[in-house]
Amino acid sequence: LFAGPISFLRSAPQLRFLPDPDVPEIAFAGRSNVGKSSLLNALTGRKAIARTSVTPGRTQELNYFDVGEPVVLRLVDMPGYGFAKAPPAVVRNWRFLINDFLRGRVVLKRTLLLIDARHGIKPVDGDMMDMLDGAAVSYRIVLTKADKIKATALDAVAERTRTAIRKRPAAHPDISITSSEKGMGIAALRGFVLDSTQS
Ligand code: GDP
Repeated sequence: LFAGPISFLRSAPQLRFLPDPDVPEIAFAGRSNVGKSSLLNALTGRKAIARTSVTPGRTQELNYFDVGEPVVLRLVDMPGYGFAKAPPAVVRNWRFLINDFLRGRVVLKRTLLLIDARHGIKPVDGDMMDMLDGAAVSYRIVLTKADKIKATALDAVAERTRTAIRKRPAAHPDISITSSEKGMGIAALRGFVLDSTQS
């Protein structure tokens, strides 16, 4: 799937800039600095398909990437959240954009919700999960930067995260544990992404 061409399509700061809903989409969400750009690059095997943002919390657009030629899948890089210094108006805009997107996007097949393995689920992540569950969008939690903590600590975070997921109102797939740096869990996640083009 990712052996073929992958290209940046566009940034959509508002829903009217979204591409026509004619291809399945998979979205990537998470706090600023969670490792979203790195994961997108690792998944696609590209060095810099997604750029690491210079000013965290500043980008408020949905960034679209076309996969394949003809296009069989679109990756949607959602704006990072939880940046402490973001002005309230920016946070409000973000909520409206994301809520409307999640509720109205029929081609959105899967969402990956990235959580830093060192921190686990934070209250802002809980808010995001509420928005996803409220919109009836299924998501898979992806623990990132797994190389940054010891195996025992990682096991503990994974267990805590699984417990939190089980308490959600809807059923969600099991968590993934990844390190973009070391390539851990990336191949398995590619399989999951690939499935979304077929169901
Ligand atoms: P984004 O803001 O969510 O797009 O996060 P980035 O992908 O830009 O990553 C934020 C920081 O975490 C950068 O300094 C990355 O080099 C680092 N990072 C991302 N993924 C990993 C990982 O798997 N392992 C380690 N050790 N560092 C990572």
